[in-house]
Amino acid sequence: MTEQHEVIVVGAGPAGSATAYFLAIQGIDVLLVDKSDFPRDKTCGDALSPRALCVLDQMGLLDDLRATTQQADVLRFFAPNGNQVETPVPGTDGQPSYALVVPRLILDLAIQQRAVQAGAKFLGQNAVVDVVQEVGGSVSLRVRHAGRVRELRARGVVIATGAAMRLLQTVGLLPERPGLMFAARAYFENVGGIEQELEFYFNHISLPGYGWMFPTSPTTANLGMGYYGRLHPTPQVGFEKFVAEHPRMRQMLAGAEQMGPVRSYPLRVDFHRSPKVRPGVVAVGEAIGLVNPFTGEGIDYALESGQIAAKVIGEVLSTGQAWTPAAFRNYVRLVNERFQKLFVLMTWARGLYYNQPVLDRIFGRRFGNQSALETLISVSFSNASPARVFSPRVIWEIIRPTHGFQGSR
Ligand SMILES: Cc1cc2nc3c(=O)[nH]c(=O)nc-3n(C[C@H](O)[C@H](O)[C@H](O)COP(=O)(O)OP(=O)(O)OC[C@H]3O[C@@H](n4cnc5c(N)ncnc54)[C@H](O)[C@@H]3O)c2cc1C
Repeated sequence: MTEQHEVIVVGAGPAGSATAYFLAIQGIDVLLVDKSDFPRDKTCGDALSPRALCVLDQMGLLDDLRATTQQADVLRFFAPNGNQVETPVPGTDGQPSYALVVPRLILDLAIQQRAVQAGAKFLGQNAVVDVVQEVGGSVSLRVRHAGRVRELRARGVVIATGAAMRLLQTVGLLPERPGLMFAARAYFENVGGIEQELEFYFNHISLPGYGWMFPTSPTTANLGMGYYGRLHPTPQVGFEKFVAEHPRMRQMLAGAEQMGPVRSYPLRVDFHRSPKVRPGVVAVGEAIGLVNPFTGEGIDYALESGQIAAKVIGEVLSTGQAWTPAAFRNYVRLVNERFQKLFVLMTWARGLYYNQPVLDRIFGRRFGNQSALETLISVSFSNASPARVFSPRVIWEIIRPTHGFQGSR
């Protein structure tokens, strides 16, 4: 007999597992399917913004994660000219004023297990979904699992497959090749000079792009670099160059050892153009391009979109509506309201800010109340309207003549 569920979620990353959790707590019969077995790694910088921590808190995960993983209270930026600026991680009412660095091996398992504890069923161990079809008011999925091809059925399907594009193409959710960023990272142990800080490097690196050091413990770190366009033959080549040439890297890594290989993965940053629903299907997280085009962070938006999708699915199921794009108009409206303006403006901001003179200007002086830096960080952390990056005050601060830079160190 064909296995049947109310909802099937394909992909158990932050977006899919959060969707499954928020569906399960409404009493909805949900099956979560992933082509990996858990725990599984995902190439990432592992930094969780205050926004991400808010959703994890609502899922009852924050206290445990905070007790067992690395907290960062300060952001440190290295300008192209070598100046450094530091600023506290901004929080607003109800948002923590710190970030956590949680390796995805730990984070994704915690969220997936939380969904299962809440009542979601899980099908892993190479369960690859390769066809999703609407058939007479329900949806049929073809799953390759344990050497067999199985059919599963549901009222509707949530696609949360991240930057993997094949399934999205087959269901018509990827009509054109999306805008991509590329990034690579590796873990290191016995790293020297680690503070409770997230470090961002705009020096000794090709722009538009940046390098990072996110501590995973007082002696271990996730080091990486990301960029737009075709700056490097491969992300690994760009990463090796960054680590070899950056003075801070040479200092921190003098007695360090690399743990595991350098891994790279693309990032989809095309939310404002991507389709979000099809008959029988709703997509969430990076599957709808929800990665910040300015910072490359997307775990927060993945969790939030899963939460929004689960709320709307609950309404559609409880009112007995068919799973049509019209029924999910509210989902499209809610995610657009939350993210559209941010994504459009952050894409423009990337064009304005990611060049040497502007970065030298905004990271070239102490963090001050009305500075371009404060605005940029507030917007990046969603504490201010995205339109503020283009306010006359900020633009003036970037273009006005100066008499030399004042570095903080
Ligand atoms: C190098 C790098 C650094 C990054 N750093 C950060 C950072 O520091 N902070 C941050 O917030 N974001 C960061 N990001 C972005 C972040 O990793 C993504 O935005 C986030 O993982 C998206 O979550 P998701 O649940 O949508 O997709 P994913 O986490 O990619 O999960 C997708 C899941 O779908 C499964 N899957 C795919 N296809 C199928 C299929 N056909 N059948 C079954 N299962 C399938 C996969 O196995 C996977 O488990 C970074 C990305 C990269 C590449």
